[in-house]
Order: sequence, then C-alpha cells, then structure tokens
Amino acid sequence: MKGPSPKIEKIYQQVVDRNPGETEFHQAVCEVLDSLGQVIQKYPKYADHKIIERICEPERQIIFRVPWTDDKGNIHINRGFRVEFNSALGPYKGGLRFHESVYLGIIKFLGFEQIFKNALTGMPIGGGKGGSDFNPKGRTDSEIMRFCQSFMTELYRHLGEYTDVPAGDIGVGGREIGYMFGQYKRITNRYEAGVLTGKGLSWGGSLVRTEATGYGAVYFVNEMLKMKKQSFEGKTCVVSGSGNVAIYTVEKINQLGGKVVAMSDSNGYIFDKRGIDLNLVKQLKEVERRRIKDYCEYHKGASYIDGGNIWEVPCQVAMPSATQNELDAKDAEMLVKNGCIAVGEGANMPTTPEGTKVFLSGGVLFGPGKAANAGGVATSALEMQQNASRDSWSFEHTEKRLHDIMVGIHKACYEQSEEFGQPGNYIMGANIASFRKVADAMISLGLV
Ligand code: GLU
Repeated sequence: MKGPSPKIEKIYQQVVDRNPGETEFHQAVCEVLDSLGQVIQKYPKYADHKIIERICEPERQIIFRVPWTDDKGNIHINRGFRVEFNSALGPYKGGLRFHESVYLGIIKFLGFEQIFKNALTGMPIGGGKGGSDFNPKGRTDSEIMRFCQSFMTELYRHLGEYTDVPAGDIGVGGREIGYMFGQYKRITNRYEAGVLTGKGLSWGGSLVRTEATGYGAVYFVNEMLKMKKQSFEGKTCVVSGSGNVAIYTVEKINQLGGKVVAMSDSNGYIFDKRGIDLNLVKQLKEVERRRIKDYCEYHKGASYIDGGNIWEVPCQVAMPSATQNELDAKDAEMLVKNGCIAVGEGANMPTTPEGTKVFLSGGVLFGPGKAANAGGVATSALEMQQNASRDSWSFEHTEKRLHDIMVGIHKACYEQSEEFGQPGNYIMGANIASFRKVADAMISLGLV
C-alpha cells in the first residue's frame, strides 16, 4: 500500500506484520485506510485517540473445534470461528460462512467490513463475523443438522441478543439457522428469538429478510443511476452467483424493468438472451440445491459456458454477487469496453483493488459492497426490532423500511464524497461516513 499519508501507511504496515498471511484482511483494511487521509488531517482527535489502530484490532477472536459424525459414522473435525470485531454501536452483528475456503483471514476481512457496513445502516449494531471451513456441498440434511448442533454447542456461550447476533452468509441459510437456533434454545432453555437473524417466518423471522440483500443492492444502484438521470428500465444486466443475493438481485432488477442475461456458480455461467427465467433458477437452487448448468435442460435457447468468465457478457449494469475477488482488472476493462455504466457489489469485496481502479478511472458508477449490500444486515436489525417488541410487520412495511435505509445510505455516501472533494466516489464516501460514526462512538465510550 502506498498510503494516503505516512501515518496511515505505518498503521497499515503494523496490521500486515501483526496478522501475517491474512491477505483478504489486509486488502479490506487497505481499502478503508486509503480513504482516511483527509479525515485524520481534518479531525486530529481520531489520531489522538488511536482510533485507526484500535479499529483494526478485533475486540475478541474465538477459534474452536467442531467435531461431528457423517451418516456412515465417520468422525470429522472442522474449525469454527467467531470474530467479535467492534461493539461501539451495538451488539456484534454479522453472518456465519460455511465454506471450505474459510480461515481466520477471511472471517477477519468480513468482520472488518461488517463494522462499517452496519454503521452505514443507521441501526444500532456492531460488527462481527464467523463461520467454519466445513464444506456443506453434497452433505445430507442430517449431516448438516449434526454439524450445526456441534457448532452451536460451543458458540452459544458467546452469543446473546445484547451480546452477539449471528445470521447467514455463504453456505448458511434458513435451514442452518433453524438447526442452530434449535440447539441454542435447547442448551439455554430460553426462546431468545433475537439471538439469531434470518429465522423462519413461523418462528421469529422477518418478512423481506430473504430478499433484502439483493433488493437493497438494486435500490442502491438505482439511486446511483438516478444521479445520472438514468434508471434500470431497458438495461441489460449481468449478475454473478446464483445464491440468495444473486436470486433476489435479479428479482428486483426485473421489477424495475431491467433484463438479466447471465448468472453463474463456481463452475461456469449460463447465458439466456431472452432474460433469465428466475422461477426456474429458484426451483433449481433454493428447492433442489442443484448446479446452475441444469438450467439449460429446461431452456434449449440458453447456453452454459463451462469454466467461462461471466464478465465477458456485454451489459450496462454488472452486479457481482458471488464471492470475494471474483472480478479483477482484466474483467473490469472488458466490462468498461462493453459499455458498462454501473456496478453494484452484492457480495463482500468481489472486486479486486486493481479492478476498482479501472472502474473509477473509467467513470463507472461504483457501489462498494459495504454500502450496496447493507440491506441484508439492515433487515436483520429490523428482525431484531420485531423480536424485541414481539411483533411481526407486513411485507410492504418492512420493504419500505429497507428502501428508505438504502436511500439513506446512498445519500450519506454521496454527501461524504462531496465533503471530501470527490463527489460520486462512493468508496470514499462509504468509508468516511461509516468510519466517522464508529470512531465518534468509540471516543465517547472511552478507552475500552
Ligand atoms: N452475511 C450478511 C452480510 O454480509 C448478513 C449479515 C447479517 O444479517 O447479520 O452482511
């Protein structure tokens, strides 16, 4: 990193030295610190209170053994994580990721991002993240249940509606949250609904939580487009991934008059020039848990590109909604050349730092994940609100709250980008708006 000031460069070097090998964490820290040069100059209190150094060090990191047996009786040992990063604004809040790539560096990058994302929502939630290197692919329902129970048997002691409130992320959806909530309830003998979010609708979940990340990302991009007197109407879009975020991104784009022509999974992508048949994707992915290539069994006009790069598909709006670092500089150049005008990150940190630079210098509207995908966790906070008041809100009311929150996040990011001299640089705007909010709270709470 060539930091924005020698002071920040030095802090970044310390983070790298103290957290060796955690490259994704370094990347997430670098991106935030890069935006803060002018802020610490204008407000010396942040340096006086060592806020940047403190914010880069998690309040608590928990690593634990997760033993479980498969259906044949074989014993497996996985590693579980929960990084409780920052609780200045509220209880630690953030999802759990079950994926074979998970190690401490991934959980720390996600937890670090979550602090700022959660601050942007305006809801009273701190930042945290957890997960395991468990690979759920191909596992039976009973294996998933035993894994979730074993995971929660250790994690429960660190949780609580006022302490730490996990939710889903990659590999963790309604089914897993159910098994974990069941185990938490059994161990504690408490029906403490607000201890997990993303719950089922009949046992404390919130309407719109399933749709929220995707819907919110589209609302954010729509706000960026509005600034340029544009809309989704008639636009060709590409959405990578085919999980929860991608599916509801496509649904909202369709509602706003856009057309999505490609989606993907980790093996390849499908292209359907008439527009993706979302009901079929939902059936394949949400109900039958199959691969995206099976789409072409039902739509002969569509094609599956095995091992293909989805960013080669020409589009005006791109929404990377799969995973970190899925879009690099070459992909970004291809998108710009093909006429892409807006990018909204549905996933966490899907664009590499070099890719981001290509978009910014190409004049592409760029909504960074911590702003664009904050709708998921914002709606988790709405779920917590409903749990706390033992209430349940209508779909319309909840969706309106989500929409208002996303409009507010866009506004906050834009205003900060303007105040610091780069109007429309949403990366800078998101980092500064959220940093100041968390930093001011940390100062108020004293040296803790
Ligand atoms: N995992 C989601 C995220 O990246 C949601 C977290 C939550 O709802 O707590 O923001």
